[in-house]
Amino acid sequence: VCQWKQIPLAPPDSIFHLTVAYKADPSLQKINVGVGAYRDEDNKPWVLPVVKKATGILLNDPTLDHEYLSVTGLPEFGSAAAKLILGSNSHALAESRVVSVQTISGTGANHLGALFLSRFYQWNGPPVVGLSNPTWSNHDAIFKNVGITPVDYPYYNPATIGLDYNGFLAALRNAVPRSVFLLHACAHNPTGVDPTKKQWTAIADVMLEKGHYAFFDCAYQGFASGDLDQDAFAVRYFVERKVPLLICQSFSKNAGLYGERIGALHVVSSTAEEGARVDSQLSVLQRSEIGNPPSHGARLVSLILNDPDLFEEWNRDIKTMAQRIIAMRQELYHLLTKELKTPGSWEHIINQIGMFSFTGINPSQCQVLLAKAHIYLPTNGRISMAGLNSKNIRYFAESLDKAVR
Ligand code: PMP
Repeated sequence: VCQWKQIPLAPPDSIFHLTVAYKADPSLQKINVGVGAYRDEDNKPWVLPVVKKATGILLNDPTLDHEYLSVTGLPEFGSAAAKLILGSNSHALAESRVVSVQTISGTGANHLGALFLSRFYQWNGPPVVGLSNPTWSNHDAIFKNVGITPVDYPYYNPATIGLDYNGFLAALRNAVPRSVFLLHACAHNPTGVDPTKKQWTAIADVMLEKGHYAFFDCAYQGFASGDLDQDAFAVRYFVERKVPLLICQSFSKNAGLYGERIGALHVVSSTAEEGARVDSQLSVLQRSEIGNPPSHGARLVSLILNDPDLFEEWNRDIKTMAQRIIAMRQELYHLLTKELKTPGSWEHIINQIGMFSFTGINPSQCQVLLAKAHIYLPTNGRISMAGLNSKNIRYFAESLDKAVR
């Protein structure tokens, strides 16, 4: 007997679907700009040289075994990861107010953070989280899974292909006090549009005024500008201003450790005593969710963060990735505006930051790119700069030019 007759078929993941179609396409000119992972000049995944080196060190370490880590993870990973995002001179760290838990990468950090809030946050009404419109496609499901209702706040303005700053601030002002807002720490996914430092200041002002809670999702530290400190600006600024917050941290992109599932959840409390209680409850939640986190990625990142030479090398590898992406933005901008004289304004290509760019093209133009040029992208017009390289960028620009004329 079939027990699951009543189950409807779930819709396929659209990005996954794109990749399957791309792989099946025999065209030699095909380009995949849908993929959310870094690719090098040869369109290949890139194992960071520093990760190769750290892997070698781990393989030759006779003291390592396959015992369980503690429930909250490898301690020297957690403390170094906290220092990386908060800064080595962070007051919150010096005052032992930060609780760090190793998670199943950024997704797991989002889940554990959401679960923790669903259980312990002092909700002012039914549990609701503000999500930027648009946002990473998984946020919605992650919060719904733990009984928190996602509500959009204005973020992207299609007319300017930039930030809807006034709409965003108004949403913060009009929300009930002590609301929870998810903020992308840097390199907003999918738009590539970030607030300026001045705008972050005003956002923090309103959040403090209203007693809101900031749920920071930080999946791209270092990947946006090439500088780990610069990309941590918003988080560090909010911590200094004492906006109540937590941070979800991922090492998928900046260390190229996608499949190792290594990340952390950092909850910043007002006192060390409060932190100890938060820590105890996070351990209980983590125990029932995943038991103990996996060790390999934690060991790799811990080695890199705690060894000054490896850390410096990692900084160089991050710059290699970020600079390639920035160079692709500049090249695409140049081709569209100077060589092809493509109609429309393309400033946003160089103003946006991180791996993704919202091109501003409409769904039917995306369809034309797919059908006529074998260029694979989601219908919201988001492209991953990592899918472009010096060999395919001219073809991409020419195809985009034809599609918008
Ligand atoms: N948050 C955002 C905004 C992301 O873009 C991603 C990666 N696509 C993640 C979280 C989580 O990725 P991971 O679980 O691989 O760290």
